[in-house]
Amino acid sequence: MTATRIDGKAFAANVRAQVATHVARLREEHGITPGLAVVLVGEDPASQVYVRNKGKQTAEAGMASFEHKLEMTTPEAELLDLVARLNADPAVHGILVQLPLPDHIDADKVINTIDPAKDVDGFHISNVGLLGTGQKSMVPCTPLGCLMMLRDHLGDLSGLNAVVLGRSNIVGKPMAQLLLGESCTVTIAHSRTRDLPDVVRGADILVAAVGRPQMVPGDWIKPGATVIDVGINRIDKPEGGTRLVGDVDFDSAAAVAGAITPVPGGVGPMTIACLLANTVTACCRAHGLSEPEGLTA
Ligand code: NDP
Repeated sequence: MTATRIDGKAFAANVRAQVATHVARLREEHGITPGLAVVLVGEDPASQVYVRNKGKQTAEAGMASFEHKLEMTTPEAELLDLVARLNADPAVHGILVQLPLPDHIDADKVINTIDPAKDVDGFHISNVGLLGTGQKSMVPCTPLGCLMMLRDHLGDLSGLNAVVLGRSNIVGKPMAQLLLGESCTVTIAHSRTRDLPDVVRGADILVAAVGRPQMVPGDWIKPGATVIDVGINRIDKPEGGTRLVGDVDFDSAAAVAGAITPVPGGVGPMTIACLLANTVTACCRAHGLSEPEGLTA
């Protein structure tokens, strides 16, 4: 391996420590405790784990954590009513509705009912528009975490060729907007892209968010490139059991890249850290206070 391994776990711990410092200052100097409300509908096992981790890390950072667990059969109107109450609650600065939602609930409708100022996931159409037009917004957590690691590792990103592999609303598209905001030359690749290996070979920065295990081999990587692997895929181990891998084949890519994030321990831990950061940012904005430096896009 020649590439520097970008340690997302350590980076996320540092972000959480910065968040905790800001939270303590908000309490001591202004008597304010940032609050995050997380809403879970149904009993999807992965979602339950995410929600539990979010609640735990929110409390550890000194913030108020409000968990709302609703039955799988909860009518859409009841969920919309809860969101409206959370919008109106001054103790709640951030609202996250855990996705996916059951089929009988219109997820877009629910997300667009969240007050954009409390939309710490950055999925509300207003925040999408603000980000797209380069204005102050709430930025989706996973791309924000990727950007923080890229800035930390590379400094000025301007002029670099960035390829974002994947065009989802939660990762690919906002990631591309953020990189454009950093004055990268951005290409968004997806399942219909022609000559994908050639496109990826032009990348000084590659952000892979596809959801296909080890799809990107080392010979697609430009020597010295910085590789951010967002993918989380569970595969079978030859000896039995399973393990997590990214969208990039780590071993062959690490032999060529300049720096690379591992899976697990790369982008994953940054997502919740950025959720906490967004909640502090939302709280500061709600109270007209200056925003914490280094925790926003
Ligand atoms: P989506 O399934 O919503 O999007 C996947 C994207 O990859 C689509 O744009 C799709 O193209 C593209 N794609 C699929 N197959 C290919 C292919 N063979 N060649 C080129 N492009 C392809 O996924 P998400 O964006 O939600 O997530 C991507 C990955 O990131 C997943 O593994 C997910 O688990 C992980 N993830 C990790 C997070 C973290 O905290 N670390 C947070 C969120 C996601 P098209 O649009 O043409 O279909």
